[in-house]
Amino acid sequence: MTITLYNTATRSKQPLEPIEDGKVSMYVCGPTVYDRAHIGNARAVVVFDMLYRLLRHEYGAESVTYVRNFTDVDDKINARAAEEGRPISEITEETTQWFLDDMAAIGALEPNEMPRATAYVPHMVKMIEGLIEKGHAYAAEGHVLFKVRSYADYGKLSGRSVDDMIAGARVEVAPYKEDPMDFVLWKPSDADTPGWDSPWGRGRPGWHIECSAMAYELLGERFDIHGGGNDLTFPHHENEIAQSKCAGHDFANIWMHNEMLQVEGKKMSKSLGNFFTVRDLLDQGVPGEVIRFVMLSTHYRKPMDWTEQKRVEAEKTLVGWYWMTEDAATGEVPAALIDALRSDLNVSKALMEMHLMAKNGDAAGLLSSMTLLGFPAVNQNLSPSLLEKVQRTNAAPDMLDSNSDLQLFQKKLESLRADALVSKDFSALDDLKGKLGAAGVEVRMTKEGVTLSPGPFFAIENLEVLK
Ligand code: AMP
Ligand code: ZN
Repeated sequence: MTITLYNTATRSKQPLEPIEDGKVSMYVCGPTVYDRAHIGNARAVVVFDMLYRLLRHEYGAESVTYVRNFTDVDDKINARAAEEGRPISEITEETTQWFLDDMAAIGALEPNEMPRATAYVPHMVKMIEGLIEKGHAYAAEGHVLFKVRSYADYGKLSGRSVDDMIAGARVEVAPYKEDPMDFVLWKPSDADTPGWDSPWGRGRPGWHIECSAMAYELLGERFDIHGGGNDLTFPHHENEIAQSKCAGHDFANIWMHNEMLQVEGKKMSKSLGNFFTVRDLLDQGVPGEVIRFVMLSTHYRKPMDWTEQKRVEAEKTLVGWYWMTEDAATGEVPAALIDALRSDLNVSKALMEMHLMAKNGDAAGLLSSMTLLGFPAVNQNLSPSLLEKVQRTNAAPDMLDSNSDLQLFQKKLESLRADALVSKDFSALDDLKGKLGAAGVEVRMTKEGVTLSPGPFFAIENLEVLK
């Protein structure tokens, strides 16, 4: 039952070998709480939720510890509070609850521990004191800075050298820094900014030290997996490693990073008008299960594109699956599905397996797979809007007929290939292959023959137009 995961630190896949036999511990960087989570934030949550669910399935729910923090001290939060003329704690409490509600709506389980940074400031101060004692940090003008050059492996995770970073970056060189690369562990607060008493005066922690301190308090000196979006690899995770290693901790064994989310092929941004939050989608009537399906359909290490077409097709697929499994009894999760998930969380492959189960009428296998992927059963909190569509469906979903359609196209491709081998004109073959690909069908051609299988976004309607 080995799970293989891609480790950013070694740039290779490796088997998960828990530090403590039979138990797994994981830390994932959580949100800064000042606004609604956007769908990019949701991708990271769904990816690590899927991993958490797999780990619970493999090791037992009580043997997995998942920690995800809330960053509730940050200059963006201070700015938001000032802008709205409201107390900071009101903003952070409200946003934290929004986050939990929105993530629950897309099927994310709550981690075992959700530490808030403001509750761990004394632990951060202690860690910073230790770093100063060991010569890895220094105090200057009310700040404390981490001495990057005191940690020889700095840059290893992200594959950068300190000298290149200095040459390439426009690092703000504050007068109190000994070296432009040194980063803030502690900074002074004025009367209007939240602050805590410390050996360096009233101030507040930098962002990076928060994760090092909370991971240590809750998971100890070493733990199995550390996760986050790949935008955090540098500097956040590089800095976490430097702090924790210099404090004498082993820290994380495996580093996992999800790729970013785009919208209709473009970077999501407020200025492009393609920025939206999970709540926006839910309010527009997009069921949480549909959002989850779209998020899961792209492998976590590939950039993912949120498109309207995917949303529509995900809904169609889910309506069909729910229709089919409504009265099914759960069975064992099929081995092919587990194997896909164990292989660096290949959820897109898992979804393909589920299409095949649907096609072959394996309702029990499909239902247990849906449960493992975090899709609630019809009678367990399914979004009312999705439930209504399932109940309005009164015929077997189209996908049940897809078997014969796929066979039809397979025969067509085989005969086109035979022709092309004679005429040396492959255009008709390539054309149909391309169209099938665009319809969500995976086409594999080998010497042995042609095989077609439905991909995660396969929809039978797409085949109709090709007939
Ligand atoms: P931020 O909103 O920058 O505080 O990021 C919070 C979390 O969301 C981090 O784990 C980021 O890696 C992740 N994140 C932010 N933007 C995106 C995006 N476009 N796609 C995927 N993950 C993102
Ligand atoms: Zn972090």
